[in-house]
Amino acid sequence: MNYVAVSGGADSTALALLLWERGEDFEMVFSDTGGELPETYWILPRLAQRIDKKLNVVSNGSFFQHLVQYGFLLPGPRMRWCTKLVKMVPQRNFFNQIRAEKVFVGIRADEPRRLERKNTEKYENAYPLAEAGMGKKDVKALCANYDLLNPVYEWRSNVSCFFCFFQKKRDWLGLLKHHPTLYGVAEEWERQSSITTKQGWGWNQRFTLSQLRVADEQQLKLWPEPDAEPCLICSL
Ligand code: SF4
Repeated sequence: MNYVAVSGGADSTALALLLWERGEDFEMVFSDTGGELPETYWILPRLAQRIDKKLNVVSNGSFFQHLVQYGFLLPGPRMRWCTKLVKMVPQRNFFNQIRAEKVFVGIRADEPRRLERKNTEKYENAYPLAEAGMGKKDVKALCANYDLLNPVYEWRSNVSCFFCFFQKKRDWLGLLKHHPTLYGVAEEWERQSSITTKQGWGWNQRFTLSQLRVADEQQLKLWPEPDAEPCLICSL
């Protein structure tokens, strides 16, 4: 059997739609971090139903479980323990256990650097979006065509964990507006991290979520956006 790794983001959704339009036989696999946005848990079953394909959900324990084991040491761009533990490990275990023949990956034609990554797995990888020359606008248009574009794109740059440290200032503010309870959870984890870790890590090097919550326009301008790229593994 062939598989498509889906995240609820536009790339992997468009990939599943493209393969379905072509009449390919495949199943979908979703690595649940336990910290996905509600919109993601909403869009994935809609996709599965629309294209009538099986959605396999895999997990290696929730992000919160691992966070507690790490003593509330928050992950960050230079200490990115979460991607491996909650995204890659469960997917890889699933593909190996089930002896997947081919895994389709949602890398677009406008991401040549990602295509250079070597495949060290036992299964073959294929990149239909890149081969079809599809870029960012094309994948979003295809999803929108089937009314399957994740609504988080209305207020957020990427589909990722609600607490992802790669998100931009406006994404955090979007989370505060659209999901204030989840913002509060991320804020509390950050507070715990600053108490229990020597380094006092936060989600962002420039501000804490408590500071961001009450910042005025003037203050916001003093916190430039981080240079870090978004999570390229998680936001397929
Ligand atoms: S989306 Fe962000 S927080 Fe979630 S696993 Fe990936 S890098 Fe970590």
